[in-house]
Amino acid sequence: TPRRSVTVIGLGPMGQAMAGSFLDRGYDVTVWNRTASRADALVARGATLAADVRGALDANELVILSLTDYGAVYATLGAAESALSGRVLVNLSSDTPEKARAAARWAAERGAVQLTGGVTVPPSGIGRAESSTFYSGPLHVFEEHRPALEVITGRADHRGEDPGLAALMYQIGMTMFWTSMLSYWQAVALADANGLKAADILPHAVETANSLPGFLAFYAERLDGARHDGDVDRLAMGTASVEHVLHTHGDAGVDTTLPAAVVELFRRGMDAGHAADSFSSLVELMKKAAA
Ligand code: NDP
Repeated sequence: TPRRSVTVIGLGPMGQAMAGSFLDRGYDVTVWNRTASRADALVARGATLAADVRGALDANELVILSLTDYGAVYATLGAAESALSGRVLVNLSSDTPEKARAAARWAAERGAVQLTGGVTVPPSGIGRAESSTFYSGPLHVFEEHRPALEVITGRADHRGEDPGLAALMYQIGMTMFWTSMLSYWQAVALADANGLKAADILPHAVETANSLPGFLAFYAERLDGARHDGDVDRLAMGTASVEHVLHTHGDAGVDTTLPAAVVELFRRGMDAGHAADSFSSLVELMKKAAA
């Protein structure tokens, strides 16, 4: 079998884990990073540090990009545009779907193909069979390079040809992750104001989080049918409840930015006449930009 080989550009925690995973599987790995010293541990394990971006691109057809955002992608590849021709750029740098589409066009104009990727796990999940990454872009390119993509995460989930799709799926996940984790920090702040540690509330917090999948599944069908029947919950009840939450945080003397924003959304739903509907009716407000 021929030697399998890949270039990894961007050696933050994610890129380092990816390059390490390729080394573990016996790949020839060429790396490049703006701050060269980040390559030291990988070079000690057998990776080759390219002298410049051009050298990193020249080394392999398959080029993994793990940079902070697409601004960093242009800043990096812009120095060696003429070396892009014939390259497959697996862009795992996160950014908006629009930026992903524009970068795919930019790459195509220079003779390269972009596969957009959205990795759903932190560095510790890289190289693991159960971890997964969303991809979008040309299916035949994805299939051709699937074995290498499965080194990054064991599951490689192609969502479609539109280069923005993988970024969209990634941002959907991030939308839920950041707000959910903020709700946890808020709960910990309230607990702290009442003499409780994060460890004290952990079982309760985990149980609450574990109850969410059932709610997601229950509402999904109703949401797609735009049915917001108030048969199991009513927005008026929910509004009273989120006001209790807000007042509890106010009484505790902790920051109320997040609970106040929640109350604000519920009140807008009440003002729009949804008092007797489910609180899922709030999604109809969210589908439009606020006036
Ligand atoms: P970092 O932001 O820590 O590092 C990314 C790399 O980008 C670094 O190597 C850095 O170089 C480089 N970089 C940034 N700006 C420039 C620039 N202007 N020119 C050249 N290089 C630049 O990111 P991570 O490794 O944590 O993540 C990489 C991507 O993966 C990000 O888009 C992130 O959102 C995404 N991601 C991260 C996860 C995580 O848990 N960390 C999980 C899922 C996705 P230098 O070393 O010189 O600073």
